[in-house]
Amino acid sequence: MYKKLFIPGPTHVIDEILEATAVPMIGHRSTDYSDLHGALVPKLKQLLYTEERVLLSTSSSTGMMEGSIRNCVNRKALMTDCGAFSKRWAQIARDNGKETEVIKVEMGHAVTPEMVDEKLTQGGFDVVCITHNETSTGVMNPLEEIARVVKKHPGVLLLVDAVSSMSGAEIRVDDWGLDVVLAGTQKCFALPPGLCVVSVSQAAMDRSAEVENKGYYFDFWALEKKSVLNQTPATPVISLINALNVQMDRILAEGVENRFARHAEMAAYVQDWARKRFAIYGDERYLSPTVTNVHNTRGISVADLNKELARRGAMISNGYGPLKETCFRIAHMGDLQMSDVEWITGQIDDVLGL
Ligand SMILES: *Cc1c(COP(=O)(O)O)cnc(C)c1O
Repeated sequence: MYKKLFIPGPTHVIDEILEATAVPMIGHRSTDYSDLHGALVPKLKQLLYTEERVLLSTSSSTGMMEGSIRNCVNRKALMTDCGAFSKRWAQIARDNGKETEVIKVEMGHAVTPEMVDEKLTQGGFDVVCITHNETSTGVMNPLEEIARVVKKHPGVLLLVDAVSSMSGAEIRVDDWGLDVVLAGTQKCFALPPGLCVVSVSQAAMDRSAEVENKGYYFDFWALEKKSVLNQTPATPVISLINALNVQMDRILAEGVENRFARHAEMAAYVQDWARKRFAIYGDERYLSPTVTNVHNTRGISVADLNKELARRGAMISNGYGPLKETCFRIAHMGDLQMSDVEWITGQIDDVLGL
């Protein structure tokens, strides 16, 4: 049976978008493809408030997390660890032979600008990597403020995993001075998985030009050389690119600020519900607008709850990693609406008799 997804990726995909993936194939060197690519990219630039390049990568987000490390790090990266996805990025850097230092905070807490500033003062770092919205804990790191301190350290690039925030929260690439910002399409964009969007600053391109052994598939310059022709180096996931173009028209019609406000409104509703029925896991000052990590203070069985929700046509998520039993997560991102979050919390109340 079909389940409406309230999990933090993949998220619920509306019929209009599913249908936009089911289009006849076009050749990826045809003018039809170039027209599509060329129509999509300016819309993404508008979403990200950037005049810089936006590249399309056929991969999950993890591919470009690795790619951005390989393009931008000569020697040493300052990584952060505030949950599962930021921890994974640090592992990726090490697996690619890069030296790392890690700012580690407890799950549920945010990385602060002060922590980043203190580490960068040691010197020797090529990049700082930050997970904008840590999906595993429901915490959003203060990106704009972190970007401000990174700017005080010339030569250090700021790489951002915005996988679960891009198009759900404001990200001003140029104003904030973000060098690489990446996100897969299966979270706030509310598309199927398989396509990754990445903005790349000129400083990051310059770095990429001098870094050795950056590999082939994710080379920023290889992508850029084709991107100026509105193409990609290898065959891209044309179906999703078509769907994203349709989705970007919907996003711009809604208005990006309205879209962010809708996410904030859904988040406030779910947070309020969570405080009344359970508790929120995580620092209240940094709660995510796209996913709420509910502290399972009643010790309910999340598996049993999900079984019953499945019968009613919905699915939520258990806690991530070490929080598997002690938390559960409700995502409120993408094309979910206020009526959806009212419905799911009402269903949970009903199942649990709250
Ligand atoms: C989902 C997620 C990822 C992993 O994305 P994939 O597309 O599965 O590779 C990375 N970072 C964050 C913050 C995420 O939410």
